Amino acid sequence: MSESITGHLQLIRTHLNGKAELIAVSKGQPSEKILEALEAGQMLFGENRVQEAIEKWPVLKSRYPHAQLHLIGPLQTNKIKDALAVFDAIHTLDRPKLVDSLAKAIRKGSRNIPCFVQVNTGKEPQKAGVFPENTGNLIYHARAAGLMVKGLMCIPPVDDDPTAHFSLLQSLAQVHHLPWLSMGMSGDYEKAIACGATHVRIGTAIFGERF
Ligand SMILES: *Cc1c(COP(=O)(O)O)cnc(C)c1O
Repeated sequence: MSESITGHLQLIRTHLNGKAELIAVSKGQPSEKILEALEAGQMLFGENRVQEAIEKWPVLKSRYPHAQLHLIGPLQTNKIKDALAVFDAIHTLDRPKLVDSLAKAIRKGSRNIPCFVQVNTGKEPQKAGVFPENTGNLIYHARAAGLMVKGLMCIPPVDDDPTAHFSLLQSLAQVHHLPWLSMGMSGDYEKAIACGATHVRIGTAIFGERF
């Protein structure tokens, strides 16, 4: 199995060709598989649940102090303190109340880590993220509260061609002078790269199916 995780990482890095950071999405994967990726030199990972991250990552980070972990799933305000202790960036800043709660935790001594604002580019009712037309307001609010807003993130609707959504995110980032774009997963990362992705979030194409 170790050849396969190492081999998948090599192949994806070849495709990325240095154009974007590879976030290895390790949600639902056991620590043994994550260790294989760490041993292969992968140092940037993504998890979508705070609880799962605090169960797996303190041990992994003590063995690999250079490893970085990004939160790619929803953040509830009661998990903020734990999240700021284990994660190195948040991709899912999506509402004013979360901005205020993060700012409060940081004032009380939690780490101030870089954030991406999640944009609901398809305006899907069940999906997290600000609507495109409200992105500017949330960025303004977050910056005024002292957060480090560095980029935008989106998850396109499953049935749409993702390119339109990636292009929309790219133009929003340009308008708001944000350098980072978190977009692209196992099935569509090449399209995301073509639209200027700086961070791709890839799980199954590296680790196989989740449990
Ligand atoms: C699970 C997940 C991914 C990775 O998806 P794959 O299809 O396994 O590559 C990327 N982004 C988010 C937000 C996710 O929840």
